[in-house]
Amino acid sequence: MDLSKLNPPQREAVTTLEGPLLVLAGAGSGKTRVITHRIVHLLNERPFGASARNILAVTFTNKAATEMKERLVKMAGPRAQGVLVCTFHAFGAEMLREDVHRLGWPKKFAIADMGDQLSLIRRAMRDHKVDDRAFDARKVLTLISKAKNSGQPPSPKPEGIGDDYDLITHLVYPSYQLALKAQGSVDFDDLLVLPARLLREHEDLKAKYTRRFRYLLVDEFQDTNLAQMDLLRLLTGESMNVCAVGDDDQAIYSWRGAEVKNILQFDTYFPGTKEVRLEQNYRSMQVVLDAANAVIAKNPERKPKRMWTDRAGGARIRVVKCPNDEEEARYVAREIEKHIAHGIPADDIAVLYRTNGQARPVEEALREKGIGYEVVGGSEFFDRSEVKDVIAYFKVIANPKDEVSLLRIVNVPARGIGDVTMERLHTHARGQGVSLWEAMERSEGYEDLPTGAGAKVREFLRMIERYRGLFEGGNLAHVTRNLLEEIGFKEAARAKAVSVSSGDKKVKSVEQVLTSLENFEKREGPKASLLTYLNRLSLDTRQEEDEDELPGGNRRVTLMTVHSSKGLEYRLVFFIGMEEDLMPHKGMQGEPQNLEEERRLCYVGITRAKEHLYLTRAAIRVKRGKDVPCTPSRFLEDLPPETVELIDLEAPRTGAPTVEEKNFFANLKERFKAKGPGGGPAPGTPGGPRGS
Ligand code: ATP
Ligand code: MG
Repeated sequence: MDLSKLNPPQREAVTTLEGPLLVLAGAGSGKTRVITHRIVHLLNERPFGASARNILAVTFTNKAATEMKERLVKMAGPRAQGVLVCTFHAFGAEMLREDVHRLGWPKKFAIADMGDQLSLIRRAMRDHKVDDRAFDARKVLTLISKAKNSGQPPSPKPEGIGDDYDLITHLVYPSYQLALKAQGSVDFDDLLVLPARLLREHEDLKAKYTRRFRYLLVDEFQDTNLAQMDLLRLLTGESMNVCAVGDDDQAIYSWRGAEVKNILQFDTYFPGTKEVRLEQNYRSMQVVLDAANAVIAKNPERKPKRMWTDRAGGARIRVVKCPNDEEEARYVAREIEKHIAHGIPADDIAVLYRTNGQARPVEEALREKGIGYEVVGGSEFFDRSEVKDVIAYFKVIANPKDEVSLLRIVNVPARGIGDVTMERLHTHARGQGVSLWEAMERSEGYEDLPTGAGAKVREFLRMIERYRGLFEGGNLAHVTRNLLEEIGFKEAARAKAVSVSSGDKKVKSVEQVLTSLENFEKREGPKASLLTYLNRLSLDTRQEEDEDELPGGNRRVTLMTVHSSKGLEYRLVFFIGMEEDLMPHKGMQGEPQNLEEERRLCYVGITRAKEHLYLTRAAIRVKRGKDVPCTPSRFLEDLPPETVELIDLEAPRTGAPTVEEKNFFANLKERFKAKGPGGGPAPGTPGGPRGS
């Protein structure tokens, strides 16, 4: 590897291989680059005979992990395949797959999704005589999740202390945990908690894992939570060869339990830490960097950072006022079309927003123009009921103890196994202390079932068992196709739909599950099993790609929330909805620390742009069916005027050019004279209506 492609502090970070190391630096300064180069350097130098399998690199998302792995293979060749690059959760899942039986779980555990979790919590609430309609199971789940992520399961509290939800959570938590274990599942947070328990309670495992993972690298460290820090400390062992990189100005997950003090007080967790600072930004043009610096500078109590770039100038940031959210979306689509025509590839373009709901109009506008796009993150696809049904079949086939899924599909499509039958079977299961599945197997001996129901139940069991065998032979997509055919799944889904087009959509969703299975098999090869597929789904929050034939081939514009844009970069970025109540978000304006986090979020969004940045807002937005006037985001006021070009799409259009239009065309001429990037209109002059 060519170390000359790094600046001196980067080189220092890459070549310091022993002991704890912290790189604390601003956006675009090459922190992630330090991680990849450090791994390649480790592979080259092989300190103490270390090899690829001794290296663990932790990223924040699965997507980032895949990309980093690809980079590594490109840089270091096939030997980089052995490096484990994944998220903390995926790493935890990997550990549990090997060793969770030591804690009493089956090796083939399942990962419960949110729906499963809520069902189990509601049942636990009922068992404790807590009315699950008066109290919100979601709130209980949030409290349990918080406790797990802060490394402390809720301990029993003396009676009368804490509010109702605290008390309910203390009651429900142990039952919920038992129920999960009884059906052989863990929840998402357990992927951090249980591995830490394994390492803490089993010396031999601690020895095994610390011996194996001798070099640990963690990206985006500012957004780790206490459970992750706990796991990391247990893994590092005595050598403490841990390299963490991050930026406290980009801490945007405190609402999910992330602790910025993990990075600010790194030295207290890992004494003797060497700290490296990076100050040169390689990503953005000067204009973008100036704007980002000005926005983040307003946060009190931050570690001041100097950032500079040698990419002088750049196109001014376009701050665009649109009449409403639909016009905003259309404007974005028109500008994207222009930039693509001028040579920016679609996959170097991103549209960022604060909330998932803002994506829909943009999707429509892009579709209208025939521009390919990909929505990252929104889990809408896996919320579709027919998709959930297919997944529930998989879950029951992989794990007959999964009661939640079993109840979901036992009569889908309808096969004459009604609620009364299942109620009674459930009572038998409880009475005999067996699982629902086992009670179903014993149904011949129960006399209280409706006539003929027992036979239907057993027929269903046989069918599932037959498919369990078939799935073991691999060929997942093919077997699934046969299964769905045999039970008449698609026809039933169509029959349930309210219209022909919604029926088509349902069938298409089912086809997409099959495609996703096929892709999974292609990727995983012979390792692919139903269980690994399911676990991958729970770890992967990325939406399945829309398989519509769209022009542009694989090159698609990316649509995502600012939260999921962490670490990424694009030549052209649209940050939409720059309004009060969206950015900063409505619920986040009261508490100063929340507002500071919103400001950091704004900083993250701006710093994704390499060359062009648009900050758009709507004057009116439709909220719950009503037109609501919107105020410009307070963050826009912090932009240095000389970095901005103001554009107002609402300026009236009469036959004669308006003052704004004249200005706009004058500016345009000026820009042509100036040539190359830069040379927008004079600060503060509004542009005119454009691109309509
Ligand atoms: P973020 O905080 O947003 O995650 P980062 O600090 O991780 O940013 P990188 O993504 O590693 O920054 O780097 C930003 C861009 O700068 C990348 O395109 C990277 O290739 C480039 N870059 C980093 N260091 C150098 C360098 N020394 N020479 C040339 N390009 C560099
Ligand atoms: Mg990075």
